[in-house]
Amino acid sequence: MDAEFDLDRVIRKVPGFPKPGILFYDITGILADPQAFRYCVDRIVEHCRRLKAQGIAAIEARGFVFAAPAAYLLKAPLILVRKRGKLPGPTHRARFALEYGEDEIEVHRSDVRPGERILLVDDLIATGGTLRAACGLLEQGGAAVAGIFAVVGLPFLNYDSVLAQYPVKTLIQYHGE
Ligand code: AMP
Repeated sequence: MDAEFDLDRVIRKVPGFPKPGILFYDITGILADPQAFRYCVDRIVEHCRRLKAQGIAAIEARGFVFAAPAAYLLKAPLILVRKRGKLPGPTHRARFALEYGEDEIEVHRSDVRPGERILLVDDLIATGGTLRAACGLLEQGGAAVAGIFAVVGLPFLNYDSVLAQYPVKTLIQYHGE
């Protein structure tokens, strides 16, 4: 394993984006720094091997960016979890609560194979609601969630309780403003 990379140095913190009261953790600085990006992708690869996951499922859209190179390196299937209405084939669908209102995510039924162990990947875990719904989608298809990986975790939003059934790994945690 490489030495720890100081991800905090390349994550921009933007107060009031996309709306007042939110401190936005911008991961584009990771993508623009090849060493930082490699560090993150290598950790996903390592984690996937450790959990003996057979495939990776990624959450639209920033999850795709981190998961795709890891799946390529592992020669593992990559499953896209997308916002409602984006996938053309038959899907599993899950509805979940947002701060205001609800949202829906989908996955192609044909991509979820019963009995397969899947690592779920996103850029950041806030409340954990999106990842929780994504776990439900994979389970609807008979797959097993081997674990959840995100580059950034905001544990002060209590995602641990929402995702309590699943092993969660994050590379850097922020503890509120
Ligand atoms: P949640 O379902 O609350 O865990 O929200 C997770 C999704 O919203 C992730 O895909 C993040 O990309 C995005 N997100 C939520 N809060 C933030 C934040 N403070 N900074 C950056 N992205 C966020």
